[in-house]
Amino acid sequence: MSANDRAELEEFQRGFGRWLDEHREDLEPLRSLPPELDAQFAVQRRLQRQLYDAGWLRRGWPEQIGGLGGSVVVRGALAEGLTRHGYTFPFALGMIEVLAPSVTRFAAPELAAEMFPRFLSGDELWCQGFSEPEAGSDLGSLRTRAVDEGEHWRVNGQKIWTSWAQFAQRCVLLVRTGEQAEGFRGVTALFVDMDSPGITVRPLRAMSGDEEFSELFFDDVLVPKSRTVGAVGAGVAVTMAVLENERGVLAWQRQTWLHQRLRALVAEHRLEQSSAGRIGEVYASLYALKLRSRDTFRAVVAGQVIGPRSSVDKILLSTGEKAVFDAVFDLLPDHTLFDDEPGARQWRHEHAYSRASSIYGGTAEVQRNILAERILSLPRER
Ligand SMILES: Cc1cc2nc3c(=O)[nH]c(=O)nc-3n(C[C@H](O)[C@H](O)[C@H](O)COP(=O)(O)OP(=O)(O)OC[C@H]3O[C@@H](n4cnc5c(N)ncnc54)[C@H](O)[C@@H]3O)c2cc1C
Repeated sequence: MSANDRAELEEFQRGFGRWLDEHREDLEPLRSLPPELDAQFAVQRRLQRQLYDAGWLRRGWPEQIGGLGGSVVVRGALAEGLTRHGYTFPFALGMIEVLAPSVTRFAAPELAAEMFPRFLSGDELWCQGFSEPEAGSDLGSLRTRAVDEGEHWRVNGQKIWTSWAQFAQRCVLLVRTGEQAEGFRGVTALFVDMDSPGITVRPLRAMSGDEEFSELFFDDVLVPKSRTVGAVGAGVAVTMAVLENERGVLAWQRQTWLHQRLRALVAEHRLEQSSAGRIGEVYASLYALKLRSRDTFRAVVAGQVIGPRSSVDKILLSTGEKAVFDAVFDLLPDHTLFDDEPGARQWRHEHAYSRASSIYGGTAEVQRNILAERILSLPRER
């Protein structure tokens, strides 16, 4: 990390920590989340708005799109400051890290400048419409089709597992604009208004109990050509950028949160001495994740391409997440299985959600293939 980045990071950490302390009382109602998803979004949106209005959330984003400029490094420090002060990290901030850098990089500059401030301030949420019933790991086989109609694309098809789509105003959507046989070369990214006529959103209940994702149906949906993100047929570049973003700032934010949950397990429960070995094991797993994630995050801060090695980050992230919540279940079985108070419900919910960590953003099996083929040069699967 450059000396400038380090100085900016330290200044941000001090200032943000002071601000959180000074606003402790007004922010107190935003510290814990209600059980219902709608109410959780409402609380998190209020926290996001306060962070935006105070300028903390705008730091580290380019001025051309409504940010305050400065180094990306402060975006990681924002998550650390929040979790250290006991706030949950708003879901929307993760989504911003995944989608906004790619839209900013590939969409028309006026579109990014118009839309990004709405996303960052919490006035809007965006969702990621990539996966389909027959195309998840292999996005090159997707079938949602966009037909060229001059000024517009006409979109027909179905998406699935689209997180928080029922709350979203926009969708970064992958569609087929070329032939099926072209695979990923025939895929294009579009930026779609979720209130466009012809879109139906059908929420799906995950095992955590939340309607975490949805099916999306597109029935003759007209999308202006000006909403094409990147070149026609260049959807693979947008997709790769989105996946890289997940491994960069977002992974750093998530490991911060996992460390906080491990600290909570130790601080809030009287664990037996015999638990020490298990806790040590989980700590080592999170520590490895933190070191790996720090390297990747620093590469992102320096503007470098992070490449296939980031599959290691994804594997460590899912292994670490499962390790934390498996340990909670094994060490506190009565509490996690039978108690009906908010703390126990939160552990149960997080345990259920952690099962998904080796699926979303590229499954663990696919990450291992990438390492074998692209780092270790094993023959590619055909
Ligand atoms: C909580 C959650 C949130 C999600 N949010 C979104 C979202 O917002 N937007 C979105 O577009 N998608 C989202 N997804 C979908 C996610 O991206 C897909 O589930 C994932 O890419 C896997 O695709 P699939 O489910 O079709 O499984 P498949 O690709 O059908 O895989 C099934 C199994 O086969 C294995 N497999 C597949 N190919 C290979 C291979 N080549 N070698 C070895 N094993 C292989 C996989 O590892 C897996 O175990 C979300 C998923 C979850 C769980």
